[in-house]
Amino acid sequence: MTEITFLGGAREVGRMGILVNSGRERFLLDYGVNVENMDVPLQPKMPIDALLLSHAHLDHSGNIPSLYKLGWNGSVYATPTTFELCSLLLRDSLKVQERKGLTPKYLMHDLAKMERMKKNTVFRKTVNFKSANVEFYDAGHVPGSASILLETNGKRILYTGDIKFINTELMKAADTNLGDIDVVICESTYSYKNHPNRKELADSLKEKIQHTIYNNGIAILPCFAIGRTQEMLSIVSDLGFPVFMDGMGIEATRRVLLHPESVRNHKKLRKAFKRARKIRRGTQRKNVIANPCIVITTSGMLNGGPVGFYIKKLHERENCTLTLSGFQIPGTVGRHLLDTGRYVNEGLDVKPKMKVEFMDLSAHCGRDGIINFLKKVNPEKTFLVHGERVEEFARELKGMGFDAYAPRNGEKLRV
Ligand SMILES: [Zn+2]
Ligand SMILES: [Zn+2]
Repeated sequence: MTEITFLGGAREVGRMGILVNSGRERFLLDYGVNVENMDVPLQPKMPIDALLLSHAHLDHSGNIPSLYKLGWNGSVYATPTTFELCSLLLRDSLKVQERKGLTPKYLMHDLAKMERMKKNTVFRKTVNFKSANVEFYDAGHVPGSASILLETNGKRILYTGDIKFINTELMKAADTNLGDIDVVICESTYSYKNHPNRKELADSLKEKIQHTIYNNGIAILPCFAIGRTQEMLSIVSDLGFPVFMDGMGIEATRRVLLHPESVRNHKKLRKAFKRARKIRRGTQRKNVIANPCIVITTSGMLNGGPVGFYIKKLHERENCTLTLSGFQIPGTVGRHLLDTGRYVNEGLDVKPKMKVEFMDLSAHCGRDGIINFLKKVNPEKTFLVHGERVEEFARELKGMGFDAYAPRNGEKLRV
């Protein structure tokens, strides 16, 4: 009998944490934070034998160093790209916690310990534990991202992590040749909708940017440092206009390029990155906005990062555009702007004259993607996590013949 305990990320998006107990060993799948309020998952019962990390995003990785603070000594398994990006995000998160005057969840030496305890995994290569075999599969979500298959007590348990089933400009579609799966723990961020056609979105983005530049405007693209920055850079490089990069996306792109296998077309990305002008100092920013150009900058939800400077300087200019392109968590500046039309941040409360748009370039699968995936792997049981409408989705899946359930945080289930 295997026991699965949902520590966080159940019936919510953020702070993922799932404990799988084979009876002889305990595996922790992801251990993140809610990036908005810094809530963490429930604490797992120690000892933990290994932590299996799906990808670098903080809602999956953000609380791992705190386990070392508690005295944990074990190893974290992830792809090399995930470790590379995770170090960047965790260091930044620590700085942000300190800047906000919060008691940090971990200290620098906890993070350093995590980095010492890393074990690199390779897609489709089995890692053998005493009571389980574990394999990582390409999840197509962001560079380095993986789904994790755990085979124990005669059951094949798959945790999808965050997953994307179609090719994008940046990523190859998830590897779904997994054979039959007994238990799927499935992300459900967009269980209630399908995303628009990706290629058409990229084309319309290019058209809009062209329009902005021809009107002597500046196109601001707030992007998450990981994944979206690299995707945008690749897309807009086709246009041949001047591109500036600002914020953590620069270092993230440099790190992604150290692992060419983690993206679909690394040559194109490398060329685009070489050509883009990188803003290293705040004083360079005023020169950036002197002429029409494209600016790719953090943060993706407008809560911090250099994007605030550009909005402050450009919000009154009708010929400029601000295009949000990722999931905007409720409570963020970006979400507020989309919902109310007002930009409220850093002492500013304005209704921007610059054009504000949202483009659904999601790094997550849509509803049909999930359903088709479930049909393909044909699970006995499906647990839905990482979503806000999971209970409704579980009911709908039941209607389609799946044994689906949306567990609660703290709930322990046997499979
Ligand atoms: Zn993610
Ligand atoms: Zn996530």
